[in-house]
Amino acid sequence: MIPLKDAQEYVLQHCRVGHSELRSSRSSLGLVLAEEVLTSEDVPPFDNTAMDGFAVRSEDTLEAPQQLEIVGTIPAGSAPDFSINPGQAARIMTGAPLPEGADAVVMVELTQVEGDQVTVQKTVPEGNHIRRAGEDLESGQVVFEKGTKLTPTHLGVLASIGCLEVSVFSPIKVGVMSTGDELVEGKVPLEPGQIRDSNRHSLLALLNDLGLEGIDLGLIPDNEESIETAIRSACFGEGSCDAVISSGGVSMGDFDYVKVVLDRLGEMQWMQVAIKPAKPLAFGLVGDTPVFGLPGNPVSSIVSFELFVLPALKKMMGEPEIWAPKIRAIADSSLSRRPDGKTHFARVKAYIGDGSYRVKSAGGQGSHQLSAMADANALAVIPDGDGINEGELVEIIFLHQLTRRLNGS
Ligand code: AMP
Ligand code: MG
Repeated sequence: MIPLKDAQEYVLQHCRVGHSELRSSRSSLGLVLAEEVLTSEDVPPFDNTAMDGFAVRSEDTLEAPQQLEIVGTIPAGSAPDFSINPGQAARIMTGAPLPEGADAVVMVELTQVEGDQVTVQKTVPEGNHIRRAGEDLESGQVVFEKGTKLTPTHLGVLASIGCLEVSVFSPIKVGVMSTGDELVEGKVPLEPGQIRDSNRHSLLALLNDLGLEGIDLGLIPDNEESIETAIRSACFGEGSCDAVISSGGVSMGDFDYVKVVLDRLGEMQWMQVAIKPAKPLAFGLVGDTPVFGLPGNPVSSIVSFELFVLPALKKMMGEPEIWAPKIRAIADSSLSRRPDGKTHFARVKAYIGDGSYRVKSAGGQGSHQLSAMADANALAVIPDGDGINEGELVEIIFLHQLTRRLNGS
């Protein structure tokens, strides 16, 4: 068996950062900048008012209350063509530019209007309620560094500087196949010995959840020829994939041909990783394409995805932060295990209680018990030994897919 860290390193070393492209900003949510973004405009572009009220000369308010003559109205979107002379004021709306001569704004709540006169109740300092040009961003400055992952707010900022296109790492296309003669799909009755394919569905959904394009490569029977044809066409065929994930056929069974085929087609490592679940992993490059041979047990395939595939795909997409953070949580009940030389990844429900992260088991821990895993939102990392006692601290990794369910319900 090899340590988890070594297996993860091997995989990462063989996955390269992908291509970049110019892309419309509005379709770049979740992608990572391949170049820094500069602004050629100030934001805000001009001095403007943060309040509805009156634009004044601050020195005119020194003796407040003070009556001033109203000489105009400035709505947002207009450019005033008059100036404010001593003793004068102008109605002004939030976002409108300051007129010449005015150096402060008095909020409307502190004024009283009678005809063309306004009484200002309070003395205001120069600059009062004025948002200066460039206070958010200054022309010429770097707005976002290379490696920034674009969130909805980043897209808002790009819009605010008129940046309609950005250079980002291209989204990648990832093919997913299930292998196994026992697997069936769709609304068919199960014949003796058959089970329904679930891995392809969870793996494709995991990719969707990451904002990637998952390509369904179908159900492949347990024979070398079918597996080879499927992998070849995914790696070299028309519209080929940037990475391929298969599940099943990488263990010690007589019909585990995925590793045999990968060995023939590419530079492949077949690993027994010191973890439970998800001990077997086949990984290799077929041509330039990383191919992940995940174990078939449904829980194992998802754990293997989280530990090996996810960091690799993040690297390929240019993400600077590829590892899930480890957080310490209190075990609500014991998470028991026996010493076996492996690190165990228990499926747990994590929640926040009394201001701390806490965890409880999500149910059956067999690698075939997918429904228990569906209830989990984190993996508890249980080092080799006798497990974690109730009340002790345990390291957890949130499952990428399920961080939403934090309330433990
Ligand atoms: P394997 O890794 O091919 O030896 O499969 C290990 C276990 O996982 C066996 O019980 C398989 O029937 C099961 N299995 C393999 N592939 C899938 C799949 N796509 N969906 C559900 N179970 C599977
Ligand atoms: Mg199999």
